[in-house]
Amino acid sequence: MHYSPQMNQTILDALSRQFSAFHKTLGNRDVASKKLEQLAVEFPEHGMGFKQLDQFIETSVQPNLSASNGGRYWGFVTGGANPVATYADWLVTTFNQNVSKGGDSVASAIEQQTLAWLCELFKLPQTFKGIFTTGATAANLLAAFTARQFAGQQQGIDVAKSGMKYLDVSIFSTTPHASMVKSLGLAGFGQDNWQPISCNADEESMNIAALEKALVKCSANSKIIIASAATVTGTDYDDLIAISALCKKYNAWLHVDAAFGIFERLISGTEGKTKGIEHADSITLDCHKWLNVPYDCGVFLTKHLSLLQASCEVTAPYLTGSDSDIPFMSLGIENSRRFRAFPVWATLMAYGRNGVKENIKTNIHHAEVFANWLDKSDKFVLVKPCELNVVLFKPNSEILNLSSDECITKLNESGQVFLTPGNWKGQPIIRAALSNWSTSDDDVQRVITTLNNI
Ligand SMILES: *Cc1c(COP(=O)(O)O)cnc(C)c1O
Repeated sequence: MHYSPQMNQTILDALSRQFSAFHKTLGNRDVASKKLEQLAVEFPEHGMGFKQLDQFIETSVQPNLSASNGGRYWGFVTGGANPVATYADWLVTTFNQNVSKGGDSVASAIEQQTLAWLCELFKLPQTFKGIFTTGATAANLLAAFTARQFAGQQQGIDVAKSGMKYLDVSIFSTTPHASMVKSLGLAGFGQDNWQPISCNADEESMNIAALEKALVKCSANSKIIIASAATVTGTDYDDLIAISALCKKYNAWLHVDAAFGIFERLISGTEGKTKGIEHADSITLDCHKWLNVPYDCGVFLTKHLSLLQASCEVTAPYLTGSDSDIPFMSLGIENSRRFRAFPVWATLMAYGRNGVKENIKTNIHHAEVFANWLDKSDKFVLVKPCELNVVLFKPNSEILNLSSDECITKLNESGQVFLTPGNWKGQPIIRAALSNWSTSDDDVQRVITTLNNI
C-alpha cells in the first residue's frame, strides 16, 4: 500500500460522491433490494487499486443495496443513521482510537460521559454504569454474565473463575426477546432453561400473580427475572414496580431489556410505562434503533459494575494500567474496541434531549396515522391498538384472498416499503415498526397507497 497526502483528497472526493449518489437515490430505490446474488468477481490476486474499486462500488454495489437507511423500511426495529451521527461515525474511523482502557486519549472519558448522559436523557439514576456494546444482543449477553456472577456470589461461587457446575439458579420471564434467549444459551444457562410466566390478557406482559406463585414455589438458591420494556411485537411493558418489589422480597436479580422501549421515557417521563425501571439491577438499551446512530451500537447498564467486571476481567502483564484507568476491556466481550460512543455523544451534543424527543414523537405520530388508516380500511384489519411505534395488522380475509405472509411478499416486492412478519395470539400478522428519523408524511402516504393498491 502506498500512501501520499494526495490520496486523502482522492478518498474524500470519492466519499463525497458516493454519499451524494446514495442519498440522491435513497428515496426512490426499492426499499428491499431484489438483486441478492453474489457479485461476479474473482478473488483479487492483484488488487485493482482505489479508483477502480470506487467505480466498482458505485456501479455494482450501491444500486443493489436496500433503503434500510430510508423512511419506508419498517421491518424489525430499524433506525436510520442521522446525519450528525453519520459524520461522527466517519470520524470514529478516521481517529481509529482503541477504547480498551483509558490512559492514552480523551476517548474513554467521552465514552464514560456519554453513558452518564444516556442516564440523564432517560432520567435513570447515575448509579447505573456500563459499557457500549455492538447492540442489544451483546448487552443482553452481558446481562446474562452479570446475573450469573450475582447468583454465584449468593452461593459462594466465583462463576467466572470456577464455572457454573454447582450453580443452582432459576430464571423467569414472559416474553423475552429472541436475543435474550440466545444469550442464556451463550452464557451456559441453556436457551430452554427458563420458566415461562403467563402473560396478562391481550398482552405480552408478565402476570404478576403468576410470577409470585412461581417464586414461592421455587427452591433454587438464586433467582433471576428477565423483564421487557417493551416487547418487540406488542410493545407491551412489564410492571416494573411490582416485579422489582418481588425481586426485593425474594432476593432475585432483575434485568430489563429496554432496547427501544426506554425511549417512551422521553415522552411520558419517569411515571410512564417504564416506571420502576430505576429499580433494575441491569438494563439493555439500543442506540442504533431509536437514537438513529449507525450500526452497530448498544449499551449495557448495571448498578453492580463489580459483578460485570468480575465476569469479564482480563489480566495480563502487558495490559496493566494505573488504577484510574477505565478498564473497558474488563467490562465487556472485546479487548480492542471501536470508539462506538462517539456518534451517540455527537447526536446528543447536536440535537439535545429535545431533538431526540421530537424524533420519537414524530415516529409515534406517523405510526398512529398509519394505524388509524388501517382501522378504517376494508382490506386490512388493525390487530391491536397502536400505542408506540409498532403497528400490527393483517389482511381482511373477506376481501383479500392473501395470507399475511403472501401480503408481506407482495408489499415488499413493490419496492415501496419493507415489512416483516410477527405473531399475535398464535396468528401470523404483519408488523410495521417506525423508527427512522427521516420518515415523512409523504412516506406514510406512499405506504398507504401501496397497501390500498394491493
Ligand atoms: C432489537 C432488540 C434486541 C436485539 O437487538 P440488536 O441490536 O439487534 O442486537 C433485543 N431486545 C429487544 C427488545 C429488541 O427490540
